[in-house]
Amino acid sequence: MIYEVVVIGGGPSGLMAAIGAAEQGANVLLIEKGSKLGRKLAISGGGRCNVTNRLPVEEIIKHIPGNGRFLYSAFSEFNNEDIIRFFERLGVQLKEEDHGRMFPVTDSAQSVVQALVNELRRLHVDVRLNTPVADVEYAHGKAIGVTLKSGEFIDAKAVVVAVGGKSVPQTGSTGDGYAWAEKAGHTITELFPTEVPITSNEPFIQERTLQGLSLRDVALSVLKPNGKPIITHRMDMLFTHFGISGPAALRCSQFVVKALKKYGTNSVAMSIDSLPDQNKEELFQYIAHLCKEEPKKAIKNVLKVLLPERYVLFLLERSNIDPQTPAGMLAHEKIRTFVHQCKQFTFHVHGTLPLEKAFVTGGGVSVKEIHPKKMASKLMEGLYFCGEILDIHGYTGGYNITAALVTGRLAGVNAALHAMSLRT
Ligand SMILES: Cc1cc2nc3c(=O)[nH]c(=O)nc-3n(C[C@H](O)[C@H](O)[C@H](O)COP(=O)(O)OP(=O)(O)OC[C@H]3O[C@@H](n4cnc5c(N)ncnc54)[C@H](O)[C@@H]3O)c2cc1C
Repeated sequence: MIYEVVVIGGGPSGLMAAIGAAEQGANVLLIEKGSKLGRKLAISGGGRCNVTNRLPVEEIIKHIPGNGRFLYSAFSEFNNEDIIRFFERLGVQLKEEDHGRMFPVTDSAQSVVQALVNELRRLHVDVRLNTPVADVEYAHGKAIGVTLKSGEFIDAKAVVVAVGGKSVPQTGSTGDGYAWAEKAGHTITELFPTEVPITSNEPFIQERTLQGLSLRDVALSVLKPNGKPIITHRMDMLFTHFGISGPAALRCSQFVVKALKKYGTNSVAMSIDSLPDQNKEELFQYIAHLCKEEPKKAIKNVLKVLLPERYVLFLLERSNIDPQTPAGMLAHEKIRTFVHQCKQFTFHVHGTLPLEKAFVTGGGVSVKEIHPKKMASKLMEGLYFCGEILDIHGYTGGYNITAALVTGRLAGVNAALHAMSLRT
């Protein structure tokens, strides 16, 4: 059978591409190597499926530090509000949570995946599961179809590559598409882990002193060798047995990767401002006041109002203060040392967990070689790319999924228009 559009990959970008192409009236085949569609989508947002984000487009772009600006043209065609309307049309009501994150009201990822599958069915998209694609075929400067691992060749007028990146390969994203893009002449920018936990060889990490401790709403920074911040993210974080994790650490991770590379060092400094709403002087005055109020109480108990007890004890030790010291006996100099630790606890990190463990793959098919409104290859007629295979990466919070759905929509619609223009 000859298809007008073959979409490879049943993640959010491929599902959206197949739906977009079928809506235009093309006959479409969606090929997925796994036994289920939307596996990674189903585990996103803690398993509740963080379908998009409701912040203004300008903010969405800011939260996609990896080539977010490339998406301006795409967003002028189809954006996050269109995604919300699209899901509502499919009967999936969405609700907004913190930081603009949108989830299905059912809190069930399955309801999102099922709605997309139903729409594929309604539009008569052929779907082949358990069907790995081995290669994309080109002839005379055009994409002409795909060869399956079984050896079968499927003719196509347009091919949409939506196979994702290389992270969490057990969901099916094993990086198969990069070779097909290179074969068409595309550049693959260096792949790296992003939105990934950070590792550290610091003794307090190795000794698991703070393992399992979460800090809420801290300002976490990655520092240049001169101590100035490269980036600061204010969110929650978590100490683990190998380093740090949690939203603030995930957001900082790509800057750690880049700084290690840029400075050629084996470690990068990071710092935690655990009380970002107060400056050092305000905090000093406040602690001095607390000590005056309850001079006989042990300092560790006085400071418990500020931060979790485990962190207070840790910072007291760093400040060479005996935690049992009566608050009234604490010298101002010592209070200032403790304040410094609260505002600027600095430690070294040495890397991140590998790409396979990252939420998102950084790098990919260079966006310079992709038409920004069509997601068409500038190098090969009839070839389209969408989703995480592109050199686009955002923070978690629905930004990657938004990029996948938007680029998927444009790739599908334009692949169909191209294929249908070849009808005789
Ligand atoms: C645990 C986790 C949580 C996440 N949370 C968030 C979040 O909260 N917000 C956010 O924005 N992003 C999040 N992400 C990232 C987001 O899920 C991805 O960016 C998004 O799924 C990418 O969509 P995609 O369609 O490009 O690729 P994928 O979802 O990776 O789908 C690619 C599909 O292609 C198939 N495929 C691959 N190779 C072949 C082949 N040779 N033949 C046939 N099929 C093939 C795969 O089996 C897979 O189904 C999270 C990721 C993970 C792992």
